[in-house]
Amino acid sequence: MNKYLQDLIKLSKFDTAISMFEPKIENEKAKLATFVETAATIKASINSIYLEVDDVKSKRTKNNIHLAELKTKLENIAKKNKDVHNEKELKALQLEEEIAKEQIAFANEEIDRLDNLAKNKEATLKELQEKLAAEEEDIKEIQVAVDNTIEEINKERNVVYQERSELLEKFDNKILTFYEKIKRWAKDSAVVPVKKQACYGCFMKINDKTYAEVIKAEEIINCPHCGRILYKEAEELEA
Ligand SMILES: [Zn+2]
Repeated sequence: MNKYLQDLIKLSKFDTAISMFEPKIENEKAKLATFVETAATIKASINSIYLEVDDVKSKRTKNNIHLAELKTKLENIAKKNKDVHNEKELKALQLEEEIAKEQIAFANEEIDRLDNLAKNKEATLKELQEKLAAEEEDIKEIQVAVDNTIEEINKERNVVYQERSELLEKFDNKILTFYEKIKRWAKDSAVVPVKKQACYGCFMKINDKTYAEVIKAEEIINCPHCGRILYKEAEELEA
């Protein structure tokens, strides 16, 4: 096989490998991002439930103050009861007492309701905090796994960079410029195999004459349709 063509195939394979590293790393980071997002959602729920609990507790305090006021009122009514002068005053006082007692009953019911509400919210809070702790534990584990994988990917990447730069040291300049011109539009498919007598860049059939030249591999052959550099893979030649 033409030496330049051999170099081009190698270079193209290195470049393709290099383009694959970044998506691989992004993919690893994305694994972690899902867990981090879940943890953030749980944290937001916890914060809003804290505010709700505060609100319930402040309502309960207000009811307690109200209850104390009503009790004082009842005491005052009891005192007034001693110096009632007539039936009319007595009835008015009884009505006042009745209303105060109703209000006390209502305030007590409200306090019970608020206590239950706070209890439920605090139970939810506890569940969410446990969930968050588990999630954060998972994040730690995944972080370690992701960091290790990324480190491996970076090692591989350094090897490919090293091999690529070694290859470029003895690379023909004209051939490199030629390759880079095609690469500008063809990206990672500047050098493509021919399979079933078709260019694997544009997927069009190539004529018998060009195909024969590709198989011979004595020269660098471009696809007559798209201009990509063509080669025949060794394994396929043997088959
Ligand atoms: Zn083509």
